[in-house]
Amino acid sequence: MAGCIFCKIINGEIESDIVFENDKIIAFRDLNPQAPIHILIIPRKHISRIEDLKKQDSSLMGDLVFAAKQIAVKMNVKGGYRLVFNNGSNAGQEVEHIHLHLLAGRKFTWPAG
Ligand code: AMP
Repeated sequence: MAGCIFCKIINGEIESDIVFENDKIIAFRDLNPQAPIHILIIPRKHISRIEDLKKQDSSLMGDLVFAAKQIAVKMNVKGGYRLVFNNGSNAGQEVEHIHLHLLAGRKFTWPAG
């Protein structure tokens, strides 16, 4: 989608440090990491928010989680990791293209801030 920063990363218009990709998904390091490992996992298809998902997107969302598992294995993550969707303004969503944060390499507290 025009003007979407993550679509520009998918199209190669903006550089990123890609750690995983397949025909449906791309994953790259967050520019402003909140943990020693901070990866953003996104669908190639532009979907702005969770509420825009269609029934046929449900397997794609599962693919995002499965990619997270594959990346954690590839990066030899030990001790667990946190997966986060910030959805909407109250949750702090800044980029309107669905993305799954994979955070690892430190201990996380709960509840999240
Ligand atoms: P959120 O607040 O959940 O929408 O997260 C958006 C994330 O995208 C933030 O953690 C930003 O640091 C990250 N981000 C924004 N632009 C880029 C970029 N060009 N490359 C990598 N990460 C980015």
